[in-house]
Amino acid sequence: MRAPTVKAFSGLLLCALALLSCPNIFDPDRDETEVCAGHQNSPFVLPYPVGETYVCLQGYVGGVNHHSEIFRYAVDFSMPIGSPVTAARSGVVDFIEETFEDGDFGVGKDNLVVLRHDDGTYSRYVHLTKNGVLVEIGQIIFQGDPIALSGNSGQSRAPHLHFDVTRGDGTRESQTIPVCFRNTKPHPRGLETGVPYASLPY
Ligand SMILES: [Zn+2]
Repeated sequence: MRAPTVKAFSGLLLCALALLSCPNIFDPDRDETEVCAGHQNSPFVLPYPVGETYVCLQGYVGGVNHHSEIFRYAVDFSMPIGSPVTAARSGVVDFIEETFEDGDFGVGKDNLVVLRHDDGTYSRYVHLTKNGVLVEIGQIIFQGDPIALSGNSGQSRAPHLHFDVTRGDGTRESQTIPVCFRNTKPHPRGLETGVPYASLPY
């Protein structure tokens, strides 16, 4: 267990979208590259079961992005509390937290699962519901396995799943990197805010 991760999301600057009146830190000039032009070759799939469709509340294309710079490539999905969350990629469980209440907007009180992947990246599934973690640290997880139930814990104003991938150690200090999903429709510049994405068979 790495203590820093507990605080890792205390600054998840405002996963809460339009309900907050934050300055727009989104810079459209940085989004002209088609980072996901080859999405069908991505090692990642959407972090929810095949057959489910959820709206991207915050991508890095379009709309206002309330994610701070370090979370710049995070993605939020609107998702009712208790929705199954699945592994976007095979890996090993690196960190879990599930003790916090939903709906208290507590700083640093985000329930989450962190998976470590074999190329040194980490995927993070954040704002899970209380007692909503279905896996244990060190457990080997295969892509698509159920790992958690979504929620509204931590700095979240509405039930949703915050998902991101880092190339660091999975703690707050890790800079997020662009992530593309091979089992949904094309999204050449990344998932777009306000757009529904179906999790298709892969
Ligand atoms: Zn978020």
